[in-house]
Amino acid sequence: TRTAIIAGNWKMNYGPRQAADFVKQILPALAHVIRTHPHIVSILCPPDISLQVVRDVLDAQPTRGIELGAQNLYFEEKGAYTGEISAEMVKELCSAVILGHSERRTYFAETDELVNKKLLAALKHHLLPIVCVGETLQQYESGQTSQIIEQQVRHSLANLQPEQAGQIVIAYEPLWAIGSGKAATVDDAVKVIRQIRQIYSSQYGSSAAQAIRILYGGSVTADNIAAFTAQEDIDGALVGGASLKAEFVDLVRNSS
Ligand code: 13P
Repeated sequence: TRTAIIAGNWKMNYGPRQAADFVKQILPALAHVIRTHPHIVSILCPPDISLQVVRDVLDAQPTRGIELGAQNLYFEEKGAYTGEISAEMVKELCSAVILGHSERRTYFAETDELVNKKLLAALKHHLLPIVCVGETLQQYESGQTSQIIEQQVRHSLANLQPEQAGQIVIAYEPLWAIGSGKAATVDDAVKVIRQIRQIYSSQYGSSAAQAIRILYGGSVTADNIAAFTAQEDIDGALVGGASLKAEFVDLVRNSS
């Protein structure tokens, strides 16, 4: 009975003009799906430079359950950090933020320790953090998945206050499933997501572990979403490529 989340990570796609066009295109149908499925929340995560235009489009037709998220933030409050934005700035426009996506870990050298600092900053400013974890193909093939996941969960999600521990979202995104068209099997996803909940329970107790939403991500489409969300353990999805098309509305509809 956790509220499901279908989040769209647009990555580095759609500047302000295209973002406004796209959101205007999908919003009527998306709003209808969300209104008729009150147990689903959809979070749109455009690039920072497009957050304001998407905010404006959403505000013109406010719908409970359609929210805005950023794809990253920096943990410092303000100051001489060229190119970065703070949690407080994100909070002016957004209710959520993706943290520790594998592309940030891979291309921008984000460590579990850095992701953890960002998480604490996000929580301080009452953003809903979506913290990503996942193993590489090589780690998967060599049977290291559970060890890698445990390390990422323990370190990225460390140092939370008891009252914060139930206020987060984790996305399990195996790197080999991202953008590959090869989603994990439902069995694999369930297995890892159960493990994540267990680790989290040992860190923060079972009521926090039962409260948090754990999403699957990696080549999720309108066609395969239902198989994932049919699972009790899987509380929704973090969607890349399919969130850039009108298909996203079908995907959200099919998730229920
Ligand atoms: P795809 O849905 O394009 O595989 O991307 C998944 C992802 O990385 C979402 O954060």
